[in-house]
Amino acid sequence: MRRALATDDTKPIVLLIDDSVDVHRLLRARLKHEHIQLVATTSGLEGVEFAKGHGPSTILLDLDMPGVDGFETLRALKEEGTTHNIPVIVLSGMDDSEDKVTAFDLGATDYVTKPCDLAELRARLRASLRLDHLLRLLAERADVDGLTGLSNRSHFDKRWAAEVEECKRYGTPLSIALLDIDHFKSVNDTYGHPAGDEVLAEFAQLIAKSCRTSDIPCRYGGEEFAMIMPHTSPEDAKVVCERIRQSLRAMEWPRHPERVITVSIGVAGCAGGCTQTPEQWLEQADQCLYGAKRAGRDRVATKDLGGPAMAKAG
Ligand code: GH3
Ligand code: MG
Ligand code: MG
Repeated sequence: MRRALATDDTKPIVLLIDDSVDVHRLLRARLKHEHIQLVATTSGLEGVEFAKGHGPSTILLDLDMPGVDGFETLRALKEEGTTHNIPVIVLSGMDDSEDKVTAFDLGATDYVTKPCDLAELRARLRASLRLDHLLRLLAERADVDGLTGLSNRSHFDKRWAAEVEECKRYGTPLSIALLDIDHFKSVNDTYGHPAGDEVLAEFAQLIAKSCRTSDIPCRYGGEEFAMIMPHTSPEDAKVVCERIRQSLRAMEWPRHPERVITVSIGVAGCAGGCTQTPEQWLEQADQCLYGAKRAGRDRVATKDLGGPAMAKAG
């Protein structure tokens, strides 16, 4: 699960894991003016499950709990990929140096001794929420292409594999388009690299506004783009791509008004239950793209990889 950035109207979730409901009540009262949603569980196991499903922004974790104690809970949180980066503030009844070292070595970001000064706890909580915000920003940036603002290749690879898997498992339609700008090298050579960059950025915006919010447009590399279209048949994908092709052709370029920019597009999709691997599927789209280039560029070539009926028959 991707831990999304909290938007202005969504308060960050803070998860309190403490076996004492008195502590729940106390912290709920003392933190009620903070811009957070406080969720409390009384056991480590429950807390870990909640964290996996909801990705809280910080966890306040009691050390001394019956059954699975705080250390074990912390270990479980740090071992699990989806909860690994959530900042954890350990709350402990003991000001024991050895416990502190163990907690920090297991990955805690902070350690507070109970009973604690509540103004100090609030300040530490705010520092932890700032850390969480930065970690989420970093994770998001790692998946974004700097020039176009679209998802980058590494994000594409992850999502494409996941979408093909879903198509296989649930038999839902899925299409992919590979879009490659025509004679782009000559745009760079004639008008300069900054003009080329501008074409890439404008084209990226065009793709992003032409697709559905559930589609995933990516910069595949250089002047090649890819768009994953979940729940979309190849016929419908073709309609979207035709629209993109025509819009690009109609665009005016202040830096070089005399030059029309065009794109060739290869689409491969299926109505559901396709048996191809992600790599084979991409290869089919790439062959279509190659076909579109060979046939004269500025066109869309589509391949239907077959739905469940065709898959059974074949
Ligand atoms: P075709 O119609 O066959 O696709 O021809 P093409 O010229 O578009 O293809 P080719 O692969 O020969 O050239 C791609 C060019 O894209 C070469 C490379 O310098 C340029 N390019 C790749 N990344 C960038 C970038 O980030 N900015 C700019 N301005 N150019 C880039
Ligand atoms: Mg190319
Ligand atoms: Mg090209």
